[in-house]
Amino acid sequence: MNEMSKMDQVKNANANRPQPKPGVLDIAAYVPGKSKGSHGKTIHKLSSNETPLGTSRSVQAAVEGVARNLELYPDGAATELRAAIGEAYGLSADRIICGAGSDEILSMLAYAYLGPGDEAIYSEHGFLVYDIAIRAAGATPVVAPEQDLTTDVDAILARVSDKTKVVFLANPNNPTGTYLPFDEIKRLHEGLPSTVLLVLDAAYAEYVRRNDYESGMELAATSENVVMARTFSKIYGLANLRLGWGYGPAHVIDAMNRIRGPFNVSGMAIAAGVAAVKDKEFVARSVDHNEKWLPWLTGELEALGLKVTPSVGNFVLMHFPDEDGKRAPDADAYLLERGCVLRLVGNYGLPNALRMSVGSEEANRTVVAHLKDFLQKD
Ligand SMILES: *Cc1c(COP(=O)(O)O)cnc(C)c1O
Repeated sequence: MNEMSKMDQVKNANANRPQPKPGVLDIAAYVPGKSKGSHGKTIHKLSSNETPLGTSRSVQAAVEGVARNLELYPDGAATELRAAIGEAYGLSADRIICGAGSDEILSMLAYAYLGPGDEAIYSEHGFLVYDIAIRAAGATPVVAPEQDLTTDVDAILARVSDKTKVVFLANPNNPTGTYLPFDEIKRLHEGLPSTVLLVLDAAYAEYVRRNDYESGMELAATSENVVMARTFSKIYGLANLRLGWGYGPAHVIDAMNRIRGPFNVSGMAIAAGVAAVKDKEFVARSVDHNEKWLPWLTGELEALGLKVTPSVGNFVLMHFPDEDGKRAPDADAYLLERGCVLRLVGNYGLPNALRMSVGSEEANRTVVAHLKDFLQKD
């Protein structure tokens, strides 16, 4: 009998069982933000960019109504929700599609437009769901380097090839918090072949207060190759229900609808979304809160000597000294001990940074106080 190495033996045994298609086992599974501190207690969860303001009260009532009829299938077309979104944002409901979180919108786009041999581009510190969706569709991710933790349009354009089918871009980006002004997005769009689909993920659009920012609605309305993805998880405070939507040209929405699960959005999510988009006062309050605490946090963290990447979202990325005991994982452990849960972003190529969601006043002040102690201790 041939001498078989341990590895070959394992391979041989594996060959006799079902094999995932090529690419699947190359995927690094998504690592969500932790929800517990070191002793199982969480005082402040600031790891997933959830809102500190809870959910609109009208949403609570809408969800309770649906809870009495859990045996009924939801409206698979989410007609009422698409109409409500269309009304709230001034868009045609026919060109809206809803998903179980915008993650599902991104996955549907990957499955509909990518396959083996195709390439899709995303930015160096871009949202990691893109990498997963691209590989899951059997395609090859191509990563474009950034400048100053900001998407570089020229770097993306330089990586377009005959194989490129999709470009995924979060604007603003998570975890950096940086954004591209609309003229840069337009320049990117103009530089892409008309056959390449540009996906603009505007998960944090509602938070952005910049005159030169545009979420992607305008390009998605006026071109044949741009789709915008949006979420109810952030400013609307519905992360737990899994609800997002996409807006794009009719032919793209049609392709997505063909591969969509027939009842991909639950009745609770539909009812919650309808109530949420109508509560403009709740969104305004969330924006005001962020407008106050984002600059406050940035200033306080800088005053502690940390470098902070300028953010337009509801979170900040802070960079730690390259010094024993003072690096990001040390700070993370120190904060976890004290029940404050932030996000390490080493898997985003940022091993010495922590991302922190803008929290309640108490959360923000508590984290800053702990970080002050952390940086001062020997
Ligand atoms: C949070 C986030 C989303 C939203 O994901 P959901 O699936 O809707 O919860 C999408 N894109 C980015 C960049 C995000 O940070």
